[in-house]
Amino acid sequence: MGKYAISICQIARDWHKKNSRYYAHVGHKNGKICVTDQFWKLPWNFKIAILLHEIGHLLSPGKSEKVVNKTIEELLDIKIHYIPKTQFGNNLEWVNPEDGKIGYKFLSTFLDQKSMRRLRPFAGIYSPRS
Ligand SMILES: [Zn+2]
Ligand SMILES: [Zn+2]
Repeated sequence: MGKYAISICQIARDWHKKNSRYYAHVGHKNGKICVTDQFWKLPWNFKIAILLHEIGHLLSPGKSEKVVNKTIEELLDIKIHYIPKTQFGNNLEWVNPEDGKIGYKFLSTFLDQKSMRRLRPFAGIYSPRS
């Protein structure tokens, strides 16, 4: 599998306007993970969780959202959570910062250097209120 680039896509933009939890998709453009502009403004651990989920789609094509996450969770021994309500959209994929670091390392086998550089600032960790 060649390396993937994260790239802004008009369809992602349009879908995000209709549903604020919508940030990314795969399978539209070869070698690309399509995102909205707002994706880059998300806290770091949402970005990593969303990308892990999208990689899960690549590894388990055609499978349900649940199975897609399970693929990643079993491979990396991490947990992908869904945060019910956030200012960035509801039911967003989220990983804790420790799992995020494991996920980040894993992403480097799939994403090109430019995308990895943009994901490197580990700043802006989102912690859900309990
Ligand atoms: Zn697209
Ligand atoms: Zn999905």
